[in-house]
Amino acid sequence: MHFTKLRLSGFKSFVDPTEVVIEPGMTGVVGPNGCGKSNLVEALRWVMGETSAKRMRGGEMDDMIFAGTSSRPARNLAEVALTIDNSDRSAPPQFNDSTELEIVRRIQRNSGSNYRVNGKEVRARDVQLLFADLATGAHSTAMVSQGRVSAIISSKATDRRILLEEAAGITGLHSRRHEAELR
Ligand code: ATP
Ligand code: MG
Repeated sequence: MHFTKLRLSGFKSFVDPTEVVIEPGMTGVVGPNGCGKSNLVEALRWVMGETSAKRMRGGEMDDMIFAGTSSRPARNLAEVALTIDNSDRSAPPQFNDSTELEIVRRIQRNSGSNYRVNGKEVRARDVQLLFADLATGAHSTAMVSQGRVSAIISSKATDRRILLEEAAGITGLHSRRHEAELR
């Protein structure tokens, strides 16, 4: 399973619809300070189910919506869509009837966000579990935000254990056990 496309609209500084095609191999994002490189990576984390506005450098989730500039009015809606190639059928069973999955998260000012997979509304949890085993999730060690390396060096032992569990690929197991216990 791999990412093939990221589409943003009204998300942070990406006010106009923007489509990023992710080719196989390595992708580099370059540009001057403040052009939106980190916002792009945050869009990826957000569509995979990030729940903390703080980890998205915001005070609340509504801060993901374009806030306006001196020349453009603010938006009331933000949407991020991630397309993934599932031709190896590695998605959880409920999503495994499609070779391509489009995960869409949309937020409306003052009314929270919702998720769709291939047009069908799903829970945030379903999206988080979809990525939990793929070493890609919103909190995966595959995503290293600016300033995180120094934060890890000075972190508590218990926090560092969580990182090791992710590296060992057992985080998905914990999520699923928790889910099972709730039922
Ligand atoms: P650096 O090279 O310094 O790391 P960067 O390319 O990572 O920069 P970002 O941090 O992604 O840049 O982008 C910061 C810009 O995004 C700032 O100009 C900020 O005002 C803008 N921005 C963030 N949130 C919003 C929002 N909700 N509405 C409008 N603009 C926003
Ligand atoms: Mg940055």
